[in-house]
This record gives sequence, C-alpha cells and structure tokens, in this order.
Amino acid sequence: MKADVGSMTWRTGDDIGVSEYMLLTVEEGKRLIDCLEQEHELSIAEMAALIDANCPELRDYARIKARAIGDRQYGKNIYIRGLIEFTNYCKNDCYYCGIRCSNTKADRYRLSKEDIMACCREGKKLGFRTFVLQGGEDPYYTDDHIVDLIRQIRTDYPDCAITLSIGERERESYERFWKAGADRYLLRHETAAESHYQKLHPHNSSLKHRKQCLWNLKEIGYQTGCGFMVGSPGQTPEHLAEDFQFIRELQPEMVGIGPFIPHSDTPFAKEAQGSMELTLYLLSLLRIQQPDLLLPATTALTTIHPRGRELGIEAGANVVMPNLSPVGVRDKYALYDGKVCTGDEAAECRNCLERRVESVGYRIVVSRGDHCDVKLMES
Ligand code: SF4
Repeated sequence: MKADVGSMTWRTGDDIGVSEYMLLTVEEGKRLIDCLEQEHELSIAEMAALIDANCPELRDYARIKARAIGDRQYGKNIYIRGLIEFTNYCKNDCYYCGIRCSNTKADRYRLSKEDIMACCREGKKLGFRTFVLQGGEDPYYTDDHIVDLIRQIRTDYPDCAITLSIGERERESYERFWKAGADRYLLRHETAAESHYQKLHPHNSSLKHRKQCLWNLKEIGYQTGCGFMVGSPGQTPEHLAEDFQFIRELQPEMVGIGPFIPHSDTPFAKEAQGSMELTLYLLSLLRIQQPDLLLPATTALTTIHPRGRELGIEAGANVVMPNLSPVGVRDKYALYDGKVCTGDEAAECRNCLERRVESVGYRIVVSRGDHCDVKLMES
C-alpha cells in the first residue's frame, strides 16, 4: 500500500532494492504507525523505513497504541505456558545455536516419558493449562514416541492444551500429532529472507521447506506460531520488513521474537547481541499489525534485561513461558549464553512471574489461553 506521509513518494516492496527506502522524521514515522493500525499492512519499503526509524519517541508512540490494542483484544490477561525442554540433541547445525550438532561441548540429555509426565503433574498443580514440549530436532523421538506422549498427556490432562515445538517434520507426521491431540505448534521461521537465511544456516537447511511446514501446520488446523530473532548477524531493516510481510500472509496465531544472543561455542560467538529496544519496538509493531496475536515476552528478553518480561508486556506481549523442565537439565538447554531462570524451582518461577506481571498492571490467568478465534469457535 501507499501511505499518506506528506509529499514523500514511496516505492512498493516489489521495486525496491536493498536499502532503498526513505529516512523518516518522527512525525512521518507516527503517520506510518497510524497507517499500520488502520490498514494492518505496509509495503516492505515503508516497513523497512519505519523499523529503521526506531527511536524513543516512536517506540513510545507504538507501545501506547499496542498496549491499548492488546487490552481491547485480551483484556489484562497474561497467559502462561509451561515449557518442557525434553531433549537438547539436534541433528541440525544452525550457526547461532548452542545445541547445534557440531557443538561437542554441549552436555546432551533426553527426558524419559516418566520425566515429562512428572513435569506436567507439577505444572498442573501450579496452574498451568498449556504444556509446551520443546526440543532440538532429535530423531530418537520418532513419530510413534511423540504420538504416545501426546496421547498420555491428553488422557491425563484433558483440560490442558498441548503445544509442540520440535522442528521440521513432514506433513504426515504433523497430521498424526494433530489426530493424537496436539493443539498448537511453534516453529520460528528465524528470517523470511532467503539470502539472510543462508547466512544463518548451513546449505542443507531450506527456508522454503521451513515455510512449507508452517503452511502445512496452518492448513491442518494447529494454532501456529512462527517467529524470528532480532539483531541476528547480517540482519537489515529490509529483512525484518520481509518477516512482517510473511507474518501478514501466514496469519499465525502466535509469533515469538527475541533478541539474538551469541553462544560462545558457535560460529557467531563474537557477533554483537541484538538490541532490547528494537525487540520491544517490533513487539509493538507486531501487535499493531495483527491485534489478535498471542505474543510471548520471551526468556531471551529477560536474559538481556532484568525487567525484560515486564517491558515486553508493556510493549504489547501477552504470554509468558516459564520453564517446567527439571532444574538439573535447564542450563543444558542453552541455545544462547546467560539464559536466566535455570536454577529456580517451577513453583518459585510461577510466584516470581505473578509478582512481575502484577507490577505492570496485568494478571496471570489459569486457562488454556487459546487464540481468540478458537475461543469464539468453542463458545
Ligand atoms: S536452532 Fe533448533 S534446529 Fe537449529 S540447531 Fe538449534 S535446536 Fe537445532
């Protein structure tokens, strides 16, 4: 679309080359944010310019709008998900990731079915109604294993949602998990731009396949989550604008974003960390572009700033995902350095979160925390 930002002429996303967008004044940036609020869409050039214009005034302007939009959609509710990181084995070799297969220093572990069920038991007692089973792409857990696990959780906890975050699998596998009772699936696309994807992954990884997985998940009926890192090596405002465009096309129910944080045993060990301010700004822009999103304030945000979760909520986030994994394995699931909350028992985490969320005027609710469209369908 073309935004009405005074006398400036805007090129469309189709005809710009890299770095061809206007430098915005604050007033022009505000008008673009208004436009995003009304139309839920900006061209790649406009979005790249808006992202590049990131500054305190625009962040405040976007944050206030995003919070009002989020409150209209979901009230003061913050949804909690119990994260169970059940394996840190992975067959992939993403350059940014601490559990990539080439990292021989990673201390590998797998949780048994009994361990996982114990995490769910503890989580249920603490008020969690969503369990997120997350792991590297570990072939040890075959489709049969995963189906068995889903059925067991579904039987023992019929009122709880089951979210999977176990990477790329074929459509048939996703269909089996769905039939077994999984409700949601998280698969960050990491970057929607092909050239950037190639910088972050080895040649045998395919962005096309990753995106196809997301389309398959949506078609099957999962509440689907994609997402990206902010400030990953080589990322430009145009790349981020492509992420926004992909999200607009996919219309996921969830989007997870967090700052890139380097891990010392990866090829990106010496790269600069992503910025908290930019992450918060993008959270607000996501909320404005797609008001109904379930948006987590991620652990990575808290890792780079002690009030990261609270700031994330103030910027428009409405989900937090504390760790339910056994304390003994938490620091082994180290995708990046310095991950927080690896030592606290689940109950401590739950209480601490409650206080933090209340400190910014919100409340944790005991519910599955489905996307608003799903709730509408069921009511
Ligand atoms: S980012 Fe995910 S797929 Fe890539 S190496 Fe890490 S766990 Fe594996």
